[in-house]
Amino acid sequence: MNRKTLTSLSPGDVEGLRALVRVDYNVPLGPDGTIEDATRIDATIPTLCWLLDAGARPVLLSHLGRPGGKIVPSESLEPVARALARRLGRPVEFVRETDGKAALDASRELPADSVLLLENTRFLPGETSNDEQLAERLARLGDFYVNDAFGTTHRAHASTVGVASRLSPAVAGLLVESELAALSRLREGEPRPFVVAFGGAKISDKIDLVEAFFEGADTILLGGAMANTFLAAAGHPVGRSLVDDAAIDVARALLDHPGVRLELPVDLVVGDPAAPADSQRVVSADEIPPDSAAFDIGPETVERFGDVVRSAGTFFWNGPMGWFEQSPYDAGTRALAEAAAAAARSGTFAVIGGGDSARAVQESGLADEVSHVSTGGGASLEFLAHGTLPGLEALEPA
Ligand code: ADP
Ligand code: MG
Repeated sequence: MNRKTLTSLSPGDVEGLRALVRVDYNVPLGPDGTIEDATRIDATIPTLCWLLDAGARPVLLSHLGRPGGKIVPSESLEPVARALARRLGRPVEFVRETDGKAALDASRELPADSVLLLENTRFLPGETSNDEQLAERLARLGDFYVNDAFGTTHRAHASTVGVASRLSPAVAGLLVESELAALSRLREGEPRPFVVAFGGAKISDKIDLVEAFFEGADTILLGGAMANTFLAAAGHPVGRSLVDDAAIDVARALLDHPGVRLELPVDLVVGDPAAPADSQRVVSADEIPPDSAAFDIGPETVERFGDVVRSAGTFFWNGPMGWFEQSPYDAGTRALAEAAAAAARSGTFAVIGGGDSARAVQESGLADEVSHVSTGGGASLEFLAHGTLPGLEALEPA
């Protein structure tokens, strides 16, 4: 990586200093505020321990959800502070403010061996527009800057980009460093064949990045609502399936892209959207009934996709194959996770990226069996497509 990293600093140089650390604690919260998956919290622990062991005082900034520049109490980071304290085994102070006097005072008074977590950066109107004055105020909260928010590094926000140019050193944390090591290797696509699987629901967000893989990959497998959109583009009936109309034109153009083998589902598990739990049945992919929705890839598709994944030299997967939160529509996603794990055991370099995709592999208990599980969906796709990210560009050159 051509950016300065935390591990290139000597611990003596940061002793006693406040490390302003951008983390990505955008974790899934249940209705009662419980954290449904703490992967992103755990992923920052190596950086926090490095800083604490060096005698630095970590002041953490993160966003959670999309509150849109105003205070949304259900998207407070307070429950995250409690979870972090338990997982880190050190005191975590929480301040219900991000850039004001209470936050600044707390950063200055933070005791040794403790961590300070400030309130959701996206409660502030200037965060996503990278407002200069906000970046100035945030920069006062630390003496140097660490970006360990891999999942948000594709965003040019005040807390990821604005603040980085105002503090020195400005370095990549351990999570960002390890993510980039795995994704840089994946970018080379070797050994071949290079197989990529896309699913999930954020089609418009991702379609341009998906398009980039049509140049480098040997085979592209499509499932989830991504596949529904391509099936619609191919002129098949999709019933009440989730389809992204805004992406259909791009999908139609990609259907005939030369030089890559594109595999759409051959069968699907459909259900009644009003009673999904017990209405599932398998249909051919070109026969989705008008009153049903495709919620998962079917068993024959699972077989075919599994064979392709197991014979891959390099494999990248983003986006669940179906509505995996709702049984029985989790079967296709689970089966693909098993195929990825089996492939990795026999030597395939297999990487899974994406918030929901990572959660699905965690829930399958297979996260430790694949080569790397990325904590960033959009960020991993964007890095793979372009080879850099705005939040990296903002850090100091190595
Ligand atoms: P990631 O977070 O891994 O990048 P996305 O956010 O794009 O993935 O998509 C994940 C969501 O897509 C999940 O909530 C999943 O239920 C949903 N999804 C996938 N396939 C379907 C489908 N066929 N119908 C409805 N929802 C789907
Ligand atoms: Mg998601």
